[in-house]
Amino acid sequence: MGRSQDRVNRPAKICAACGREFTWRKKWERCWEQVRYCSDRCRGKGAAQP
Ligand SMILES: [Zn+2]
Repeated sequence: MGRSQDRVNRPAKICAACGREFTWRKKWERCWEQVRYCSDRCRGKGAAQP
């Protein structure tokens, strides 16, 4: 029962490109406030195009 914490303290955001929810990852620990995309691929696409 002690491992449920693994998934608890993870913030989540909505990707600005694909609109899906994504959760905190270790690689973002220093820049989470600036992260807007769920992946490098979405970051390359940028915000969703109409
Ligand atoms: Zn995305």
